Order: sequence, then structure tokens, then C-alpha cells
Amino acid sequence: MRGIDDVRETIHEGIPASPGIAIAPVQVVARGFSPPEVYEIQESEVAHESERFLQSLEVTKRQLIELQSRLEDLSGDNESGIFEAHIMILEDRSVVDRVILAIERRLQNAEYAFYAVMQNFLEAMRRIQDPYLRERTADIEDVAQRVLRNFNIDGDVRQPGAPEYHVLVAYDLAPTETASMQRRHVTGFATEQGSVNSHTAILARAFGIPAVVGLNAAVIDIIALTPSILDGYAGKLILHPSPETLARYRTLMLAKEKVRSSLDAMRGAATETVDGRPLTVSANIELIDELPLVKRSGAKGIGLYRTEFLLLNSEEMPNESRQAEVYSRVSREMAPHSVIIRTLDAGGDKLPVEPLTDIEPNPFLGWRGIRVSLARPAMFREQIRAILRASSLGKVAVMFPMISGLSEVLRCKEIVRRCMDELDSEGVPFDHDLPVGIMVEVPAAALCADLLAPEVDFFSIGTNDLIQYTVAADRVNPHVADLYRPTHPAVIRLIKHTIDAANHNGIWTGICGEMAGDIRLTPLLLGLGVEELSVGPQQVPRVGHAIRSLSHAECAAMADEALRHHRSQGVLDLSLSLARKHYPELLD
Ligand code: PEP
Ligand code: MG
Repeated sequence: MRGIDDVRETIHEGIPASPGIAIAPVQVVARGFSPPEVYEIQESEVAHESERFLQSLEVTKRQLIELQSRLEDLSGDNESGIFEAHIMILEDRSVVDRVILAIERRLQNAEYAFYAVMQNFLEAMRRIQDPYLRERTADIEDVAQRVLRNFNIDGDVRQPGAPEYHVLVAYDLAPTETASMQRRHVTGFATEQGSVNSHTAILARAFGIPAVVGLNAAVIDIIALTPSILDGYAGKLILHPSPETLARYRTLMLAKEKVRSSLDAMRGAATETVDGRPLTVSANIELIDELPLVKRSGAKGIGLYRTEFLLLNSEEMPNESRQAEVYSRVSREMAPHSVIIRTLDAGGDKLPVEPLTDIEPNPFLGWRGIRVSLARPAMFREQIRAILRASSLGKVAVMFPMISGLSEVLRCKEIVRRCMDELDSEGVPFDHDLPVGIMVEVPAAALCADLLAPEVDFFSIGTNDLIQYTVAADRVNPHVADLYRPTHPAVIRLIKHTIDAANHNGIWTGICGEMAGDIRLTPLLLGLGVEELSVGPQQVPRVGHAIRSLSHAECAAMADEALRHHRSQGVLDLSLSLARKHYPELLD
């Protein structure tokens, strides 16, 4: 660990998860209790800030002593030992001294200085093998949270001035936390955990927040408010950047901005290859907050609406009429373009629709996607009815996630048919020709695509899951990130097999996994014959430009060669060589 006042430029490497550059001071959010606001104080405020800290400790101690005596009255001596241990934590001289030192030397506000010291302490405890000591971390978190609350008790809290913009560094972030970042002055984030295809990274890309995951540094060793540059292109977090590094990044930001505005100018243009093959570029969304971004992007519709994000603010899916309102708004706002609404895909690394009583050993292989919906017919019917109701207001399609075989498809279709009958008898209008599609994201579905295609109107290949299930590498585990290869020969064969089955049955195939937005792979996907690419709103203009620069015939010849290749790298190189030839300016 570096010294407290070390100001040399330091570079931490990670995995690039969302492109972009952020230049701002660091805010550290570690595991455990919630972080307070962080801001820099003046030297003249040091004494006052230290006093606030000591007062908060005193108040907490008094509260604990009172709790202890109440407990003694109720149940005798035995239980009150818990609070003695809590009080001892507050009296630990090394903690007190380190907090005061952080206030004096790092000029951190008292709450944050205390929080950071406690986090270091907790992190050290978590690494201890002894189960008794590890369990004590919960006690410490409890006391620490209480001290933090007591900072506010007499209202003597300095209001930080204008909102500070930060680069957030965290051990890990849940998709819910990423979703609220837009509103929280976060210009970029870096996490120790995570991978490119986690839902946290997908959301970062959707909102255009630069991000680095799988950081090779212990987050808790990074000091809050350290000046930093987050490079989401190269996957770097640079602390204390030198003036030369800062100048280099400012120039790079300007160059990227120039490319972005030239792409913006082409927003409305048709996405057709130079030899006249049209391809639809649509957008993936998680939240309706993204609609303005989608409209600005020039996307020709929504190729994937991840409805499980409706669970963000509640433990249950909203009822039918609330869902119908939300879906209707999306379909109205996107008209005349179409909106593909995917039914609930809770589970995996996403929000659970209901917490299971026993922890699943393999969540990605368990209670997820269509399995949950088919096991909860009342909830499933409400969602289908809501989607049908929205279909009278715009162009809507329904899509089922995690399909692994024909019987699931038939059961889903039967439920759709029954919901249609009900709405007919209630006189509620809807689109009787509502297209029904499935996600092809389980290898079983890709291999049986010829059996499934006659039953549906379209396929949308979910490469995020298809890759993880094909190569057996968890999409959110940084330790196996190297095995997770979109161009693995097995993956591209499955994609090809799916497209061929669709073509034989006269239905179209799109791709809505993250692979669709990777412009190094646009030549390969185009050559394999996909007809739609659904990507994060920020990627739409880039993918559109890539398509307009390519020739379908040239891509198809390259894809034929790629299908004969033995290695992922070889396949990637083939696709990349066409990308470099036709749109070098877009490649990072
Ligand atoms: C996929 O698996 O590729 C996909 C688009 O679905 P999700 O990322 O929501 O699992
Ligand atoms: Mg999926």
C-alpha cells in the first residue's frame, strides 16, 4: 500500500467495460455499510471536523450504554456483553488516531475519514480465515453505521458546496446501483469484481458512463478525492495523473468528441451496406429513462426491452394495468418503429422476482427466465395481457427468454392464445397478429433451431448467455473472462446454424447480446446473415456507420472462411481486418 501522501502517477489496470474517459476525483465505496458524502475541508476546519468526530463517538457510546442497561433490566447480565464489545470498538485508540490523521492530512470530512478507516479495518477482518472473527464484521458495521448516523444528530453538518463529480471505485456494484448513477454525479466507475457482460457493465454502456471492471487493485487502498482519470477504452484507472498524461487525455477526449459529432450527423440515414443489403439497427433498453437516448440515437425500434428492470424499485412485478401503462408509453413513443418486449428474465445476476429460501449453487443454471414465468402462471398472464394491451397503440412483439426446447415454446404460445381469448371476450383491443419470438441463448435452442423456427416469427440470439453456456464460463466472473470468447468457433457455428434454420422457415434472425454492439465483429455478423442488430443506445450510431461502410458480399466471403477457422483469435482477426479496412476511424 502506498503512503498517505504519495502523489506519484499510478496506473491500475482492469477490463474495459464501457468506453469513454472521465477526469474527476475518486470516491471509494467499499463493501458493507453505506458510504457518506465525501468532500474536501479547509485547513481552518480541521479542529472543528475532529471535534465533530469525537462528539459522534461520545453520543454513540452513551446510546450503547443506555441500550446495555435496558437489556440488563430485561434479561439479566448474559446478553449485555454484545454492547460491551461494541463500546470497545469505539474506544479503540488506533481507530480514533487514524481518523483524526485522515482529517488532518487528507483534509477529508469527518464522516468520510471515519468510514474509510472502518472499511480498511473491516476488509482486513474479512480476509481472516477464523469464522468467529469474520462474523464480528457484522458487529463492527453496525457500530460504524450508528456513528455515521450520529454525525447528523444536532444538525451540525456542513453542507457540501456545488455537487462534486466523481469517479466511483467500488469492490462491486449491483445493476440497481449503476442504474441510479446518472442522477448521482458519477462520471465513471471502476470495480474490483465484474466483467464486460454483467448487467452492471451493460447499463454503464447504455447510459454512456465510462467503466473499468476487474481492477487489479484493492479498492480500499485507494484514497478518496485522489485526482484520477478513468480510461474506459483501455481499462485503466490512473491516480494522480501527471500534467502530460492529463494533456494527452484531454486531446483524446476532443478527438472522440469529433468522431461522435460526425456520427450524429448521420443519425437518420438508412442502414444499408454499400451493395444494398438492409439491416435494422435497434436499441436495447432496461428502463424507460433510456427512451430519450434511444430516440436521439437514430435506432429503428427497440430490439430488446429487458422488463425485469421493472423490479428495480419493488420486489414484485407491477400489476397488469401498471405494466400496460409502461409498455404503452414505450410503444407510443417508438411508433412507427417496433418494440420487442421480452418477458421477465429475473435471476442470474439480475434482480430476483422473489428471493428463494435456499441459495442457489448455480444461479445461471437455475431459477431464471421463462422457467420462473411458467412456474408463476398468474404473474405471467398479467405480463402477457399487459403486452397485448400495449400492442393496440404501436408495433409490439413479444419475446421469451431462456428457451431451451420446443415444449416451453408451445406452452408460452398457449398462454398467449388464452390471454388473447380473454381480452377478446372483454372487448379490449390488441394486435391479433402480435409477432411471437424467442431468445436463442441456450445452446440447446440453437442446436434445435430447426425444430423451433416453424413455431415462431423471429429469433433473437442472446450471445451474452449463449457464449457463457457454450464455453461454460460464467459471464460475470473475471477469473474466466479469458475463456469467454464471442468468436469461439463453437459460438459462431451455433449462430450460423440458427440463422440457417430461420432462413429455411422464412423467419428473421437478430442479435441482441453485447456482441451485436462490438464494431470489430459487425463484418462477421453481417456475413453470417443476421438481419437485425440490437445494441445499447450509445452504440447505435457506430454500428450504423459500420454497416454503411461494408459490402455484404465481402463480409459473406469472410464469414465462410471464418467458419473454417480453428481458433477464436483467427476468427476475430478476419473480422477485424475488414473493420480496419472500412472504418479505421471508429476503432479504439
Ligand atoms: C443475452 O443473453 O445476450 C441477452 C441479450 O439477454 P441478457 O443479457 O438480459 O441475459
Ligand atoms: Mg440472456
